[in-house]
Amino acid sequence: MLTFPQMGNLERLLGDILERLEVEYMPPPKTTAKTLALGTKHAPEFSCLPLKINIGNFIEALDAGADTLLMAGGKGPCRFGYYAEIEDRILKDAGYDFEMVTVEPPSMGFTRFVGPIKRVSGKSTRQIWKILRASFPKCRGFDFLEKKALETRCFELNIGDTTKALKKAMDILSEAKKPEEIKEAIDAGLNVIDSVSCDKDRLVLKVGFVGEFYILLEPFVNFDVEEWLGNRGVMVDRSVYITDWIGPSAKNPVAGTSDDELAEIAKPYLGHSVGGEGLPSIAHTMLYAREGFDGVIHMFPFTCMPDTIAKAILGKVGKDLDIPILHFTIDEQTGKAGVATRLEAFLDLLAGRRRALVN
Ligand code: SF4
Repeated sequence: MLTFPQMGNLERLLGDILERLEVEYMPPPKTTAKTLALGTKHAPEFSCLPLKINIGNFIEALDAGADTLLMAGGKGPCRFGYYAEIEDRILKDAGYDFEMVTVEPPSMGFTRFVGPIKRVSGKSTRQIWKILRASFPKCRGFDFLEKKALETRCFELNIGDTTKALKKAMDILSEAKKPEEIKEAIDAGLNVIDSVSCDKDRLVLKVGFVGEFYILLEPFVNFDVEEWLGNRGVMVDRSVYITDWIGPSAKNPVAGTSDDELAEIAKPYLGHSVGGEGLPSIAHTMLYAREGFDGVIHMFPFTCMPDTIAKAILGKVGKDLDIPILHFTIDEQTGKAGVATRLEAFLDLLAGRRRALVN
């Protein structure tokens, strides 16, 4: 039985692909404090938080009967490329018996990408390619629904309505299989979110959300900051979506700016990639400043090399472009109350700046 780590909507995305591949799978339980405690116990202290949570997810899935772990590979310069190898060793040292299946990105050679999928599914390259092409528009659809919910939540009249509508929209899309059904389900889902009762004349603060990929996508580790802010009438624009990240075109249609454009924008401050979201965190912050956003929230795991570099540079970006930036370095010691207190103070600051601009 195959399993994979939890991360935002990954369960819905991979679930669709694995069902089409006719591979039996069981997602781990949703990430909780118990998951984090398990991962922290087994992982090296200074490893980055996503690795710890991956390990916790895998332990919970192995204990529930999984015997095959699916992980993405990579080639640096950040540590993500080593995750599968390190997780394999840690879990085997802990006494677990399983097979680790590592799917490398296509940029590392097509065989290393498709070979492991062929092995677990028994399908041909041609069949796998067909399945991925059929599933990808649906995966994109999940991202567009999430983006729509972020644009809507800050205007809702009844707190919680957008979250309920998003869940309903996601459930509708989850059922779709054929191309025409997927298209219809995306439209139906967008309509469900559109039908949330809103006060569109409400004045809202606009905040950009930048930082490390996993932290931005997994509500458990970012303390569901998007919903927290939306419930307080703040419009959040997230800079990272899962299908932008895995999509081969690097055009990033959901977030709206291609990798090439981001590299060009960041150039005055950083002239080359530093891995992970280091460069995109800088470029997106610059874009948010240009677009008149009130502020930027930058979140990343403690010891994350790319976003630690970004943090050092963002001090100057914020000053030059006059945009407040709130940095959060997240690890297993970070508490919800501390995050909320800092966010409240940040929103006060942003509201004060907005009032000063109006008067
Ligand atoms: S981007 Fe940062 S947190 Fe994520 S894997 Fe790389 S080093 Fe770790």
